[in-house]
Order: sequence, then C-alpha cells, then structure tokens
Amino acid sequence: MSKLKTFFIRTYGCQMNELDSEIMVGQLEARGLQRVEDEFSADLLLFNTCSIRDLAERKVMGKLGKLGRELQHDPIIGITGCMANSKKDSLFQKIPHIDFVLGTNNIHDLNHILDEVLSTGKQVFRTDDHFHQELNYIGATRDDKVKANISIIRGCDKYCTYCVVPYTRGAEVSRHPDSIVEECRHLVEQGYKELLLLGQNVNSYGKDQPGWGCLFHDLLYKIDKLPGLERIRFMTSHPVDITRDLMLAIRDLRTLCEFVHFPFQAGSNRILKKMHRIYTVEQYIEKVEMLRSLVPNVALGTDIIVGFPTETEEEFQETYHLLEKLDFSVAFMYTYSPRKGTPAMRWKDDISEETKADRLKRLTDLHERNLVRHRQSFLGQEVEVLVEKQNFKDNAFLKGRTRCWKNVLFHGDPSLIGTLQQVVIHSYNNQTLIGERCD
Ligand code: SF4
Repeated sequence: MSKLKTFFIRTYGCQMNELDSEIMVGQLEARGLQRVEDEFSADLLLFNTCSIRDLAERKVMGKLGKLGRELQHDPIIGITGCMANSKKDSLFQKIPHIDFVLGTNNIHDLNHILDEVLSTGKQVFRTDDHFHQELNYIGATRDDKVKANISIIRGCDKYCTYCVVPYTRGAEVSRHPDSIVEECRHLVEQGYKELLLLGQNVNSYGKDQPGWGCLFHDLLYKIDKLPGLERIRFMTSHPVDITRDLMLAIRDLRTLCEFVHFPFQAGSNRILKKMHRIYTVEQYIEKVEMLRSLVPNVALGTDIIVGFPTETEEEFQETYHLLEKLDFSVAFMYTYSPRKGTPAMRWKDDISEETKADRLKRLTDLHERNLVRHRQSFLGQEVEVLVEKQNFKDNAFLKGRTRCWKNVLFHGDPSLIGTLQQVVIHSYNNQTLIGERCD
C-alpha cells in the first residue's frame, strides 16, 4: 500500500492509554489521515494495548487472531501500548499479519515507523526502555470536550511484585512543569473545564528532578491559578508518597476535587510485604485518618487484589475488614493473575480460581452494601455537578459528576453541557444518583 488515507484505532486499558491514543490520533490526522470507525475498510489499524491483566492480553490476542481470518483487504496493522513492550518482537511470531510494534516510549515516532513500513514492506519494531519527552501533547485530538487527561509523569519506580508497569513503561520521568501548565492553559482556553492529571504514581512527581523545585503539590498550586478552570483531579496515588502538603492542597485549592484514589491492595501486612507495597496496614490507616481529619468531605477510592500467592482465609479476612472499616466510595477489585516478567511469577499461583472468585464475591457484596448506604446518604442533598454529556439511554437526561466522583443524572437541556449545575438528589439506581436541577 503506497498511501494511507484512513485509520481505525482501538484502545484497551487505562486513562494513560486513552491519552496516548489521543496523541497518536493527532499525529495521524496531522499526516492527513482520516479516522474511521470501520476496521474492515481502514487502511491502517492501530491497537493500543494493555498488559495489566492476563484477561486484557487475551482479549487483544483473540481480537487480532479473529481479524486475521476475517479481513478481506490488506491494511497496515500496528500494535502499541504495554503489550508492545512486554512481548516485543515475539508478537510477530504469534500474529504474523501485523506490520509494526511500537512501545509506550516510542509513540512520538509513529509517523516515521509508518514511513519505514510503507517504504520497506518489512515488519518493524521499536520499544525503548526510556521515555522521550518529544510528545506533541497540544496536537492531541481529544474525544471529550469537557474533560481532558494530562500526562504529568510516566513510568513507575515502585516495583510491586505483581505489576508489569515498571517493565512496560520504564522508570519514572516527570514532565517539566512549564510544559504541563502550558498544555493546561491551552485546554482551558479551548473550553475544557476539568483536567485529570495522570501518572502511574502522580505523587512521585518532581522527585526525579530536584533542580526544578516543583513537587506534586507545587504543580497543583500552579494549575489551580488558571482562570476559567473548574476542576482538577489526579490519578493514581501510591500511599507512601501521599504527603501532608498534598492533603493541604486538597483542602485549600478551589479547583482540586475532594477525591483521592488511594489503592491499599491488601489488608494483611505479610501479603503487603510480599507485594512489595512498602507500607503497613497501620501506616495506610494513619494516612487515611490524617486525610479525613484535614479534608472531612474527602471521598476515597481503592484497588484490591484477592488471591495473591499464599493468601490465607485469615489474611483475606483482614482485607475484608479493612474495606469495611475505611468505607471507600470507589473500589476496583480483582483476582490475582500472574504476569510474565514480574517477581510474583516465580511463586506458585496456589489459590484456586474458585477460592479467588469466592473471595472476590464476598468483597464486592460488601462494597455494594457500602455503596447503597452512600447513595442513601445523598438523598435530599444539593450537589455541584459538572455536566459532561447527554445520557446515552435517555437523552432527556444529562449526565455529570460531583466533585467526589459520583455519577449524577438530571433532566436538562444539552446547552448545559460543560457548565456547573446545582442538583438536588431525589433517588438513585445501581450506579448513579438521580436528581433535579435547582432553579
Ligand atoms: S505502584 Fe506498583 S502497582 Fe502501581 S504502577 Fe507502580 S509497580 Fe505497578
């Protein structure tokens, strides 16, 4: 194929991948390509993949295998994202019909790689261990018009024993604060109201660049000053790096939302040590208590893994009781699955799938009961909602979120999208609070 006209992109996994896709879409559009939603007619198919769980990888492999059988035309096919880094050129053996593999640290090079594939007709792979800062963030084509994701730090130095991220995304590299603030200003001028600052561990921001004199909380103070900005969020935080200075910023900054995603992963000190989480349950609780005493209306989110190798029923009970005690408004819960290349892969995955599923069910049931109680506590309350879009199922309703990340539906005109509205909550369903706009 000598000239590419159209491309299709599918993104798997986290917000960082979504942002990387938006950056790649910007690069391809700048090259003159048009994005299409039909993978069976596009000249270029891009799959921006995730390796965080075995299931995520199996989905991509299944999808690519099926495409190989079904495609009637001969597009260029590229794999980007974490699977590109974890599997590298072995992907060419597993999926012979792909044309290039581009690592998470190489997406700035997408157009060069395409030129190389087109001019040589050969398979190409590039997967550097270190991140290059030359990404054109401002050129990203964003899917959302109200909220935008901003990358502030890439990679991770924590090396939790179950996690592939330090191997797929490399060491922590902070982005210069001037570049971040410039991008935020540009987005606010474009009309974006909410900025989500992203990193595998945003709380490490700036530690790799002591000369900048700008740690995470310093960066938040700079962004908060932008006129027209309504909300800042951030994701994800490692408990060890959450500081009192950050907690004070959450208390004091007008735009910084009172929601912290703060994964505890396990409620047993032995399992935390085996996971190399580098904190104890007691230290975690101390941080939560400090945060709640400084910011009483803060809402917390967490991630939990059940069935980590050697986890006993008693240790699982410790996790259960920690979830019960700390009362999270968001919890992402998973069963452990071994990831190739991680230290935990050396240990026998000795908890049966039935036991893992049973533990997960008990935790999700507990969390669901907590959520019902939370939703009930909102009845009759007035909340501030940033209106994001029309509701997909019934477009007489608008959809938005509170500062503490609760979904809210209410009747309203689409002209309210992108504005802040006060809504009184009168009911709720499984996922969402439902209310009416205040006059
Ligand atoms: S903190 Fe741990 S779980 Fe999170 S990205 Fe880093 S290594 Fe992975």
